Amino acid sequence: MADPNGFLTYERKDNPYREIAERVRDFAELQLPLSNEERKKQAARCMHCDVPFCHSGVFYGGKRAVSGCPNDNHIPEWNDLIYRGAMKKAYERMSLTNPFPEFTGRVCPAPCEKACAEALNGSGVTIKDNERHIADTANEAGWVLEMGKPSQKTGIKIAIVGSGPAGLAAAWRLTQLGHSVTIYEKSDRFGGLLMYGIPNMKLDKAIVQQRIDLMHQLGVTFIANAEVGKTISYDELQKTYARVIIATGAGGPRDLKVVGRQSSGIEFAVDFLTQTTKRLLVSADKSLEPSLSGKKVIVIGGGDTGNDCIGTAVRLGAASVKQFEITPALPLSRNANNPWPEWPMILKEGYGQAEGQFAGNNDLTEYTIATQAFVSDDKGAVKGIKVAQVGSDFKPIAGTEQVIAADLILLAMGFVGTDTAVLDGFDVTEIDNDYATNNPHVFVCGDARRGPSLVIWAIREGRKAAEFVDKSLEALIKISV
Ligand SMILES: Cc1cc2nc3c(=O)[nH]c(=O)nc-3n(C[C@H](O)[C@H](O)[C@H](O)COP(=O)(O)OP(=O)(O)OC[C@H]3O[C@@H](n4cnc5c(N)ncnc54)[C@H](O)[C@@H]3O)c2cc1C
Ligand code: SF4
Repeated sequence: MADPNGFLTYERKDNPYREIAERVRDFAELQLPLSNEERKKQAARCMHCDVPFCHSGVFYGGKRAVSGCPNDNHIPEWNDLIYRGAMKKAYERMSLTNPFPEFTGRVCPAPCEKACAEALNGSGVTIKDNERHIADTANEAGWVLEMGKPSQKTGIKIAIVGSGPAGLAAAWRLTQLGHSVTIYEKSDRFGGLLMYGIPNMKLDKAIVQQRIDLMHQLGVTFIANAEVGKTISYDELQKTYARVIIATGAGGPRDLKVVGRQSSGIEFAVDFLTQTTKRLLVSADKSLEPSLSGKKVIVIGGGDTGNDCIGTAVRLGAASVKQFEITPALPLSRNANNPWPEWPMILKEGYGQAEGQFAGNNDLTEYTIATQAFVSDDKGAVKGIKVAQVGSDFKPIAGTEQVIAADLILLAMGFVGTDTAVLDGFDVTEIDNDYATNNPHVFVCGDARRGPSLVIWAIREGRKAAEFVDKSLEALIKISV
């Protein structure tokens, strides 16, 4: 056990955010790591309670929500190892469940911390930051490649469609198990939403590329600009590979089909974020020209993607930013029907919202607002949005309508679910709990199976799917090395 008095001795200290005035001038990562000594103190705050809810991963609320880490990470064990300075052991322990802690240590919303026993009366242990510390230490020390090496080769070829965290996790695990993996990706770069979706300030793209490069060194074949079903046929894949894993995500954004939707200047959030990252990847210094200078930006949708859009628009020099959300604001503290260790459904200010306020956008986010129409000029470019206040039935309240000027409107209202084209292409009509399908050659994992979710869920799904694929191949496995 780490220091038995640690949680009484040390205050919680998160990886500090860079000053807003500084960070809005570039797209570099928002948070900076603590020193090794400070990190040990944070690890010492873990109580090693006898009932570690942090890694229990218990479902509630109709099987969608989970309390604690969805990936069963062995949190108290690696907190103890950090405290003792046994970093290699900590990394090995982490790797048993999570192959990509450098991603989750940066972008995971950390349900584990909300379920931490210390969070019952305190603020919880900094589990996510501790995870990033283990990952960054392992990368700097060069321990990661070794972890991915297979002890034997099977000679079996497996194809993965999609290179998001689910596809990458499946490829990592299959490689460890000795199989030869080829990843087909329709985009020009690998990583799925890790690369194009999540902004650089949350997850530096060099971190994503570093992992791709390591996997390449381990023998994984990556093929970009290869859309399965178009550039390569379903039949060819099935003929060439013993198994195919579909990890195509759930990227179809929810649209808002009201009057004026055809106007130019209305974009899906994920397209806007992708284009920004594409430009950034060819910029030398993690900054971009203020391409939104003088523009009034409206973001529709109050979730995390909307928050990413605000942070990005501020960095691109928008003259003003406003955010509309149709649901009411969440309460400031937990309701009685949302107790610990559940995820707290409370109002929080995102980093983008804080930056938007800093840039002078007072009352940035408005709740219970519905969009009724987009207004365009005589050239068909959007120039405003007609909105109205809604009641508890989400119906507009008469007399509350107003038109607000806008030059760019970003739709950040979530995703509609899995695009079934690839599933249909492989004649998949049923997906089982073990990731297998009615097609004995094809497995499905990640957002393509669960619907829009989180990076850690995608990693778990990819890892587990790989293990079920391996099991399904037992009869075929001929050890060649
Ligand atoms: C803007 C945004 C911000 C987010 N922020 C966070 C966050 O901070 N923390 C968090 O935990 N989660 C976040 N998420 C959610 C998280 O990114 C996803 O849950 C996760 O990436 C899903 O992983 P996946 O591998 O299943 O799918 P994806 O990451 O969507 O990857 C699927 C890949 O499949 C490829 N593909 C699709 N069809 C084909 C085809 N026919 N042939 C070849 N390739 C194909 C796609 O191009 C894509 O690269 C965010 C999502 C968005 C949109
Ligand atoms: S992956 Fe997320 S939920 Fe799991 S231990 Fe890490 S920060 Fe917590």
